[in-house]
Amino acid sequence: VSSLEPREDHQICVCVRKRPLNQRETTMKDLDIITIPSDNVVMVHESKQKVDLTRYLENQTFCFDHAFDDTASNELVYQFTAQPLVESIFRKGMATCFAYGQTGSGKTHTMGGAFSGRDQDCSKGIYALVAQDVFLLLKTTAYEKLDLKVYGTFFEIYGGKVYDLLNWKKKLQVLEDGNQQIQVVGLQEQEVCSVEEVLNLVELGNSCRTSGQTSVNAHSSRSHAVFQIILKSGGKLHGKFSLVDLAGNERGADTAKANRKRQLEGAEINKSLLALKECIRALGQNKSHTPFRASKLTQVLRDSFIGQNSSTCMIATISPGMASCENTLDTLRYANRVKEL
Ligand code: ADP
Ligand code: MG
Repeated sequence: VSSLEPREDHQICVCVRKRPLNQRETTMKDLDIITIPSDNVVMVHESKQKVDLTRYLENQTFCFDHAFDDTASNELVYQFTAQPLVESIFRKGMATCFAYGQTGSGKTHTMGGAFSGRDQDCSKGIYALVAQDVFLLLKTTAYEKLDLKVYGTFFEIYGGKVYDLLNWKKKLQVLEDGNQQIQVVGLQEQEVCSVEEVLNLVELGNSCRTSGQTSVNAHSSRSHAVFQIILKSGGKLHGKFSLVDLAGNERGADTAKANRKRQLEGAEINKSLLALKECIRALGQNKSHTPFRASKLTQVLRDSFIGQNSSTCMIATISPGMASCENTLDTLRYANRVKEL
């Protein structure tokens, strides 16, 4: 269990994961412009043109807590990101793990929001891996006596509104009481007693998320999905792990040719991702003021940004192709800013 020991010196961990070139990119003869020369360095080899039209490579280097190449498994990524935070929720902590990146870069693949991990041929995602360790720790002598119960919630934030994915996408109100406590009124908290039951919730939420949508990715790219594993003791909150599959960070939704709805969506996403960055930075710098009210996303995650016992990890996912270069650089710069103190 020693690998589950949280590192106190490391409240914020920022990692990058590169996915393999996919079929479409290979067919298009897109080039892989990303290298991971060591386990915490990412290099982007951008093809540029001089005035005389000769081409050259511009290399940019970024450092993170960890960098995973396209051979890394979900398990490996998990070991260095969410796993070290699991035990903190047994010690009344708030843990959060974000997947950040352009649509199609591997956020959902990493979190496990599309495949529950039940099938033999698809690897478990972070939802399932966290659940696995939570139920392991629950049975250890140190925590058994706390008599904790485990609950799951799954909701989506779209256009600044919260929808319950465990309750037919019911629209929920977010209220802040006099003590600055945030409450998502009526959010379903389902008790779960096994990994299997957690996977059932994930599956239910996913089917709810995509129902009535023409394309899974078209919708999920514009909404944040939040899956939470909550520990309660005697009916009271003990600890919480929030796993967030963020909306795609790609530009384009704000271009002139996009329609009004897309523009508004894009503006809302930008606002929330900006607020998220500021909140994580405030946590890392132990600032007294955290601008969590700046977006619905940061508001509902307030608990994760406030308090002594909060830890956060971010997995920035990137596409390897030259065609994604601009978005990849945007992602790397954002991730860099999050960890930079
Ligand atoms: P996102 O959620 O960021 O939009 P997805 O997770 O849906 O992206 O990934 C897009 C596609 O790429 C999916 O078909 C997924 O299975 C595949 N993919 C993503 N990351 C990896 C990876 N690390 N290894 C293999 N396939 C991947
Ligand atoms: Mg996705």
